[in-house]
Amino acid sequence: MASDPLCLLAVHAHPDDEASKGAGTVAKYRAEGVRTVLVCCTGGEEGDIHNPAMDLPEVKADIAAVRRAELDKAAAIIGYDEVEMLGYRDSGMPDSEANAHPESFASAPLDEAVGRLVTIIRRTRPHVVVTYGDEQGGYPHPDHLRVHDITHPAVDRAADPDWYPEAGDHWQVSKVYYSVWSKKRIELMHAKYLELGLESPYSDEWFSRPWQDDRITTSIDIEGFADVRFDALLAHATQIDPESPFWFGLPREVSAAIHPFDDYIRAASLVDADVPEDDLFAGLRAQASV
Ligand SMILES: [Zn+2]
Repeated sequence: MASDPLCLLAVHAHPDDEASKGAGTVAKYRAEGVRTVLVCCTGGEEGDIHNPAMDLPEVKADIAAVRRAELDKAAAIIGYDEVEMLGYRDSGMPDSEANAHPESFASAPLDEAVGRLVTIIRRTRPHVVVTYGDEQGGYPHPDHLRVHDITHPAVDRAADPDWYPEAGDHWQVSKVYYSVWSKKRIELMHAKYLELGLESPYSDEWFSRPWQDDRITTSIDIEGFADVRFDALLAHATQIDPESPFWFGLPREVSAAIHPFDDYIRAASLVDADVPEDDLFAGLRAQASV
């Protein structure tokens, strides 16, 4: 419909993933009037406390509520209009006991988890969905793999009125993207640490990961919005150490200026738009307005 505002929906696994992946993109689109929806699949209950200042018994005792409050703060900083919890428990790292917890995202029946995402898609009616890719060898967290596994079926079934008829009117998502960290960005960051005489947090292991730069179709210029990532990360006080050399080892303005692009692989599109693209909504601008 011509009067529908454009909508972007991002699916993430844990509180803090929305800060480390695509925050600048969301901030940029929100600033131009796109409606933005965050789906967070788990409560992050299994996350270790990485900030010594937050390693307190009262924080550990109420970790789900603490992480939810951190998520709301980060989402507000980034500019998400809505935060939706899919309602599962953090499955923990690969092969940990938490994988088998009956409420864990990893052990949830697939049709049930897909159905929950379908309900959100039909209600929020996004034109673009951003999720995780089919290649996650660099960080194969069970919940991250699950985010990928539920998104494509949810997009397909949201458009099919025969699936989950109780979940609202069907809705066709137009484009699906995988958010990726490019090797190019990591190389530029690594070089900058060395140039400034700092110890680089990027070990050889980083460079031997299965990178996918050759699959990137879409790069979003986030100049002016790259900085939002740092404040959003800091909002996750239990997860992010403000002294972390990985996140904050470079001066903020230096880090924000290195490769100020968020990179994506376009996984599906029902609209005509040539790749490479510089806009997640390419091909949709004529049909909807912001
Ligand atoms: Zn995560």
